[in-house]
Amino acid sequence: MKNILVLHTGGTISMQEDTQSGAVAPSLDHPLMDFTEAFKNLAYITTKQPFHLPSPHIRPAEMLTLKNLIEAECKQQSFNGVVITHGTDTLEETAYFLDLTLNIHIPIVITGAMRSSNEIGSDGLYNFISAVRVACCNEAKDKGVLVVLNDEIHAAKNVTKTHASNVSTFQSPQFGPIGLVTKREILFHYKPLYREKYDIEQISKRVALLKAYAGMEADVLDAIDDKKYDGVVIEALGQGNLPPCCLPGLKRLRKANIPIIVVSRCFKGVAQDVYDYQGGGKQLKEMGVIFSNGLNGQKARIKLLIALTKTTNQNKLSQIFQDPVCENEN
Ligand code: ASP
Repeated sequence: MKNILVLHTGGTISMQEDTQSGAVAPSLDHPLMDFTEAFKNLAYITTKQPFHLPSPHIRPAEMLTLKNLIEAECKQQSFNGVVITHGTDTLEETAYFLDLTLNIHIPIVITGAMRSSNEIGSDGLYNFISAVRVACCNEAKDKGVLVVLNDEIHAAKNVTKTHASNVSTFQSPQFGPIGLVTKREILFHYKPLYREKYDIEQISKRVALLKAYAGMEADVLDAIDDKKYDGVVIEALGQGNLPPCCLPGLKRLRKANIPIIVVSRCFKGVAQDVYDYQGGGKQLKEMGVIFSNGLNGQKARIKLLIALTKTTNQNKLSQIFQDPVCENEN
């Protein structure tokens, strides 16, 4: 028997549909709070509910609370795994935050649901059971934070919510799931190669996330400086290009030493300094814009929030956003 810590944080998995109006809202009592019967021969469950929020209400402050709680609980008791239930809207951000900040070797698994607890085809209980099964699995250790929904196991770094309502919403667009949940087994196929850890105690910086578009102008970027943000992530066009009208805004941010991270607004591929024209990636890099290797915008923002607690030095930030590459490609 394994010892599993379950942390319920809210989300659709904890909600109920009003059968008259069809509106979905948090229910007073979490429907999974005392659920243990499927785990009789598998695990002892210890349940806590640090907060009960729809995931659009979750901020980095709650993510830090979760990290601290997991560390404190694991110090007190020897758990074999942790399962977190969470709203799906920002689940990938919490998963990546914990992936970057927790230095714990037992499986940490996050799950949620697309259909609330009393809806036809509700996926909450099924996903919860799957998540506990994965957390009980020795193979799930040391693979970083895992996201388990709809019979798939994804790495926190790559997974993203791809569909507004479909139960197969969580996908890892470039890489696919790292494992599968079947009726009888938990099957892993890959292990994430590179892991990073940042030891943080507080999170206080403000980082904005902008999406580039045809005709984007500099005043949008001016607002980042005016409003005293500590950094900005831009989902740039294609391989990492921006409209030339943005350039004065980018120059202003660099002059104010506000870090600018560029990712691609394409959901696959990597932003790089390839194009050599006004606003092209090459020019952006020369201006001091930092290119991130393949993270989506919301994850690059989480990473910058964490990185800024360690350093505001431009070179160090560049290194943090540079994934290891093969030696002969350096
Ligand atoms: N809006 C809900 C939330 O993120 C969606 C969900 O949980 O699936 O809390």
